[in-house]
Parts: sequence; structure tokens; C-alpha cells
Amino acid sequence: MIREWLKDLATRSLESGCETASVSGKRMLVVAPHYDDEVLGCGGTIARHRANGGEVHLLFMTDGSASHRHLMPSAELSQRRRAESELAGRHLSVSADNRIHLSLPDGELENQLPGATASALEAISAIAPELVLVPWRHDSPGDHTATHQVVASALNGLTGDVEVWEYAVWAWHPWPWCPLAFGSRREIPGHWLADVSLSLKLLRSLNVKVPIQEYLPVKRNALAAYASQTQRLVDDERWKVLADVAAGEWVENCFQRYEYFARVT
Ligand SMILES: [Zn+2]
Repeated sequence: MIREWLKDLATRSLESGCETASVSGKRMLVVAPHYDDEVLGCGGTIARHRANGGEVHLLFMTDGSASHRHLMPSAELSQRRRAESELAGRHLSVSADNRIHLSLPDGELENQLPGATASALEAISAIAPELVLVPWRHDSPGDHTATHQVVASALNGLTGDVEVWEYAVWAWHPWPWCPLAFGSRREIPGHWLADVSLSLKLLRSLNVKVPIQEYLPVKRNALAAYASQTQRLVDDERWKVLADVAAGEWVENCFQRYEYFARVT
């Protein structure tokens, strides 16, 4: 099938075109819009850095209260997802002191940019990272692009050089990475063009890779710690899990043997 062929071609082009980058010796900060983005986008790189004795800090932007709020009270969901992040952090060997929670309202970051930027600046200043991993500037949903904006603004307020790498999460979903998702046949051409355009943009942006094959089991265990996102906690098909997306293909796209980044500075 043409999609599989193009996906394979794109993967081979990333593997050969991206420079293998080293994070060794750098104080690394990973900024995650939601609980689980740090694992999906950078879990292997975090595990690798920790295994080599590197310092890693995690900054979680939102409180996780939105993913299943139609089936679980927001406060309970938020508390559960934060606890899951603690377990995931332990799998990745990131110490509790290095896991920071801004607890901003999930799904609302776009409407809270000034306050979020001030909070992020305070946290980032205290960490003084040498390398910051943030969501790719075109990664959806809104909390992801907003996190990118917030971190970019916060870094402008810092003195000294900070290297920034952007990671993809939902950008592994557009065609050809996953089958085309559409609501009606009439929408197909528009969706396909938008997907192809985003995928090409991603291919052009990603320029460095970190080999993570030996850390894939750790990454899988860390993701499994997010039970609310990987298991149907209530017996209701409306409780969506990550493997429901594109029949599991999207989440598997986050488990390639390299993690890719757009190094921008
Ligand atoms: Zn997210």
C-alpha cells in the first residue's frame, strides 16, 4: 500500500538524514504539556541520559483534569494522573525533587499564556537547564503549541545560552504516519492535504536523533504507568485509551528505535 511505502520511506529518510546527537553532560529539562507527553516524546532519551548519570528535570504544565472528565470527576482524574506521573518518573529514574508540577488547567493553556509564562520562567530559572526539550511548534492540540510558546517566551527572559530541541507527539498521527482520520467522505481531500503538509513540515524540521532501542522496554514501562491513558479504567467504550488512536498505530509511532528532535539553537 502506498501509505506504508511512504511511511517506510519517511522513516528511512529520518534515520539517514538526522545527525546522531549527544545529550551527555547536559542538565536537561523536559517540558510536558500533559502527563504522558514526556514519555511519548522523550522517554527513551530521558532513560538513556539517566543511565549515563545525566541530570533530568521534568516540568508538567497542566493538571491532567480533562482527558476523561466526562467519565470521572476532574479532581479525581487530576490526582490520579499526577500519581501516575510519579510512577512513570520512577521508571525513568527521575528523582521526585526533579519533577515539577505547574498544575495549570488542562486544555486551557492557550487562554493563560502570561500567567503560564511567568510560572514557567520561575521554574526554569531555578533549574538553569543547558538543554530544554519542548513540544514541536506545530504539534497539536492547543496545549502543546501553547507550551512551546510559553517556553520560548520564558527562555527569552533568561540570560545565558540554552539549547532547545523540539519533540513530536501528535505530529506522528497525520497521514502517512497513520491512516487518514476523517468524519465524512467529503472531508477526505482537505484532510489529506493538511496531513501531508504537516508531515512534510515535520520531516523538514527534525534534524537530530537519539538512539533509544535499548531503552524501549523502560519507555514502555513508563507509559504503562499511565494506567488512565493505557487501560479502560471504567467499563465504558467512551473511556478512550492511547491504543484506540489509529488502531494502535499512532502510539507505536512513538516507539521507534530513535527519538527525533528539531534542534533549533
Ligand atoms: Zn499532550
